[in-house]
Amino acid sequence: MTRPLRIAIVGAGPSGMYAADALTTQAEIPVSVDVLDALPVPFGLVRYGVAPDHLSIRSVRDTLDRILDTPGVRFLGNVTVGVDIDVDQLRTFYDAIIFTYGAARDRRLGIAGEDLDGSIAATDFVAWYTGHPAADRATFERLLPTSHAAVVVGVGNVAVDVTRVLAKSAAELGHTDMPQHVLSTLADHQISDIHVLGRRGPVQATFTTKELRELGELADADVIVDPAEVLLDAASEEAVARDKALARNLAVIRQWAEREPAGRSRRIHLRFLTRPVELLGEGRVAEVEVEQTALDGSGGVTGTGRRSRITADLVVRSVGYRGVALPGLPFDDRGSVIPHQDGRVLADGEVQPGWYVAGWIKRGPTGIIGTNKKDAAATVASLLQDAPTLPLAPAAAPEQVDGWLADRGVSVVTTAGWRAIDAAERALGAQAGRDRTTIHALPDLLAAAR
Ligand code: NAP
Repeated sequence: MTRPLRIAIVGAGPSGMYAADALTTQAEIPVSVDVLDALPVPFGLVRYGVAPDHLSIRSVRDTLDRILDTPGVRFLGNVTVGVDIDVDQLRTFYDAIIFTYGAARDRRLGIAGEDLDGSIAATDFVAWYTGHPAADRATFERLLPTSHAAVVVGVGNVAVDVTRVLAKSAAELGHTDMPQHVLSTLADHQISDIHVLGRRGPVQATFTTKELRELGELADADVIVDPAEVLLDAASEEAVARDKALARNLAVIRQWAEREPAGRSRRIHLRFLTRPVELLGEGRVAEVEVEQTALDGSGGVTGTGRRSRITADLVVRSVGYRGVALPGLPFDDRGSVIPHQDGRVLADGEVQPGWYVAGWIKRGPTGIIGTNKKDAAATVASLLQDAPTLPLAPAAAPEQVDGWLADRGVSVVTTAGWRAIDAAERALGAQAGRDRTTIHALPDLLAAAR
């Protein structure tokens, strides 16, 4: 080949960035890589998912940022594939495309009252407190100051994140990069009780021990566990014996079940074997009807019919993320993923030459950030293996896409634009004695990029 292989990566989150890294740290096949993102800033869930008080996890962004310095890698932000440019048009500029656009939406509970005012998706709450440009600021600034008790549905790490953010004092959040309006709203909220609901037992919860433990280390919140809900069946006992991480979770939970609350001003009620069956209220949610469940011996639960109600004027549904289809691409509606074979996109079981997939839109919303490194590398290995036979794009140079977008009024944010945003956020943070303050409004991000 007389020119480098031109590759577009759609989505600048961890899997997209790790794919760019895997492509440019191999020496056999020369490549040029454009990483496109709908947002004017890179790093996806590292910026808009990882909790702002988890500073060490958020520092992954420094590693991802260095990938943008690699010769041959360009960032093209503020470009929405499917809106600004469709997949077929993209093919005319690139020899291969790796789709890494993640799982941006929330899974639904599918119960009555789910859409009452005061019932929010954790994905939306996380977007708001991390300063995502599309966050519904007005809703959170209305709901939080008028809420007194919250139910968080789900016992994964996102549920733990949102619980911790609600339970932390203003002083505990002040050093983060949350936008100032988020810090102010969180500082003023009056939520004293947070009920976290796991529909299965403590051994089946998907949170990790480090994240779980943090709930017990908060300055102004007690964790309360009812010993009657810390139940294990034979299958749970076996799982604990096999898996040290589960045993550690259980030890933390048992310790909480035994200790007396210290009388702190907020209470986190960590519940198990409790599933929501209906949200009730006139206009706004006021109560959550729950049903007690029983372990079924194989890791699942059955309903017992025993119901009760929890008073709550805020419900955060934290039951997982969900991928969405991109027009022009095959999609598996049941799994909410793009079907693939070793990272090669499949349509009706046939490999689509030049189309690849990595990250959550490939395997579903599971795993930690590092999981995406291996996943992206596996997809890139398939792409490099296919390289000699890929149908090459006709367009003459990768920069042609820049002209095509400019002609249609798309104002692309390049790596230099992102660096300018980065500098502006650091400067804004310095004014408040913080490392950084996230700029949240799209016009402000675009202005900073210029
Ligand atoms: P998750 O771990 O899959 O947790 C989803 C939770 O929702 C589970 O407790 C699940 O219970 C529950 N759930 C699902 N449907 C339900 C229903 N209809 N009614 C009641 N409960 C329901 O997902 P996640 O918390 O969104 O996290 C996504 C991924 O990001 C995970 O891999 C997570 O570890 C990762 N993450 C990591 C960190 C970190 O490392 N600090 C932080 C945030 C996220 P069942 O298990 O019974 O289905």
